[in-house]
Amino acid sequence: MTALRPLRRLAAAVVLPPLVPWVARWIGRQEARILRDGEPLPPGLLAYARDRLGVRAAAEVRVLVVEEVPLPVPPWARRLGGFSAPRSPAGLAALRGIYVRPPWRRDRGVLAHELAHVAQYERLGGARAFLRVYLRECMVEGYPFSPLELEAGAAGTEAEEWFAQR
Ligand SMILES: [Zn+2]
Repeated sequence: MTALRPLRRLAAAVVLPPLVPWVARWIGRQEARILRDGEPLPPGLLAYARDRLGVRAAAEVRVLVVEEVPLPVPPWARRLGGFSAPRSPAGLAALRGIYVRPPWRRDRGVLAHELAHVAQYERLGGARAFLRVYLRECMVEGYPFSPLELEAGAAGTEAEEWFAQR
């Protein structure tokens, strides 16, 4: 991984400028679908998102349960790009929209993980700004070691503990 880092940086510098706007438009389309068809957060999670995760638009967030979480690029292309993301993730955040698969529809850890990504979109200033950082991290550091992914992972674990105490 370390020896490959300069190569990964180079690949990111080449691949991301055309990829980011394309994926950002895809994210925008997914958000529109989720906001149209999804459900608002349950009250406990809404308060948690607003007060503990700092999601400014928590009341506007919608969650859409889907059998398969759609992904912007096919698995072979993700491998080619160095993305080691899971083949079929439990959830995905698209701005204020969250996709979640049926087994995790009420899983506060998974939902808090995705809500942490919603907060990251807000903090970084939208889909393009988020994707510029996030996709670069995934390509250079690898998906499990991306700082934004680690932050969301920690948020999910903290939420599980927080709700388990209540
Ligand atoms: Zn994540």
